[in-house]
Amino acid sequence: MPKAIGYAARSATTPLTTFHFDRRALRPEDVQIDILYCGVCHSDLHQTRNDWKGTMYPCCPGHEIVGRVSKTGPAVRKFREGDRVAVGCLVDSCLACDQCRKGEEQLCRNRSTGTYNGKDRITGETTYGGYSDIIVVREEFVLRIPDALDIKRAAPLLCAGITTYSPLKKWNVGPGSRVGVAGLGGLGHMAVKLAVGLGADVTVITGSPAKEADAKALGAQKVLITTDKDALRAATSSFDVIIDTVPVAHPVTPYLHLLDIDGTLVIVGAIDQLPPFHTGLLLGQRRRVTGSPIGGIAETQEMLDFCAAKNILPDCEMIDIQEINHAYERMEKSDVKYRFVIDMASLGKEAKAA
Ligand code: NAP
Ligand code: ZN
Repeated sequence: MPKAIGYAARSATTPLTTFHFDRRALRPEDVQIDILYCGVCHSDLHQTRNDWKGTMYPCCPGHEIVGRVSKTGPAVRKFREGDRVAVGCLVDSCLACDQCRKGEEQLCRNRSTGTYNGKDRITGETTYGGYSDIIVVREEFVLRIPDALDIKRAAPLLCAGITTYSPLKKWNVGPGSRVGVAGLGGLGHMAVKLAVGLGADVTVITGSPAKEADAKALGAQKVLITTDKDALRAATSSFDVIIDTVPVAHPVTPYLHLLDIDGTLVIVGAIDQLPPFHTGLLLGQRRRVTGSPIGGIAETQEMLDFCAAKNILPDCEMIDIQEINHAYERMEKSDVKYRFVIDMASLGKEAKAA
């Protein structure tokens, strides 16, 4: 079995430290990948801290993975050694249900397998993510990185990118759409770039006034500061779609007021409970509140190709793996511009020390 090294949390309250483990032996349809970079998603933090309960330890997170194919099983058709590839939040699903057949593997009726904290469909073993040097994934869940994309900056597209692209497409965002993005972090900054790329008029809705200039530099036309009640009032009924990325429980009433007739609030922040809101806010103007989980494999490839064509890339702060616990602390304080990306070459220091 291929030997791997990574970083993992051993409990909800301890920092991530070096983790030696085995990847599975290659099955016929498997691709083995040398991981070059892995993005740091707020979900990694939620999972290692057991925010959603059900975390299995050791927990080696990471689902924004890019690298190069190093080996292929005999049945692999699409990939060859040396190919530039990526893996997102999913590594398997039943591939037989109606959702899988239409390319919505994330909605698999038989539950898709997460890249980490999932259960391997054959052995039942816990899956380990991309904070590591290698990964083994069946080829149906491996994406191709277009030549035009800078591999060093592509990793955050695999979760932050698809999680915001999918609802923008689902809710028909295009030229002239009025889009709000609540929370300017990893997901939020990708929502801005992708919505601008689709031709929308974008407004960032932020609790951080200091991010105003960045929001405009990312392509937003306007910025609403959540504490500025007058500005919020003046923007009543002025959005078609709001993508809400805030990662903590928060009132959505102010966002609902901002939606026009038939407007859609898409919750992508993964939180337990929302404070109650008045149903009149939905009935009166036929607004809707919905959610959205990542996206399917075909749509993820479509998003990568779209980003290559439009030259859309995340803003990355590169870190060594040894800085991961500090990066989590900064992410909790909304202090990241706008996605940490781990350079896996830094794992070399660990291998020598082990
Ligand atoms: P992030 O980089 O930490 O960004 C979150 C942003 O939300 C912050 O930059 C901040 O923006 C705002 N925020 C943070 N704490 C806040 C607080 N206490 N009150 C109000 N606003 C706050 O996180 P991310 O990686 O973008 O992830 C965001 C959420 O999406 C997480 O819950 C993550 O688990 C979830 N997620 C869901 C999916 C899915 O499939 N639906 C996929 C990936 C991630 P401002 O400073 O601009 O206010
Ligand atoms: Zn994620």
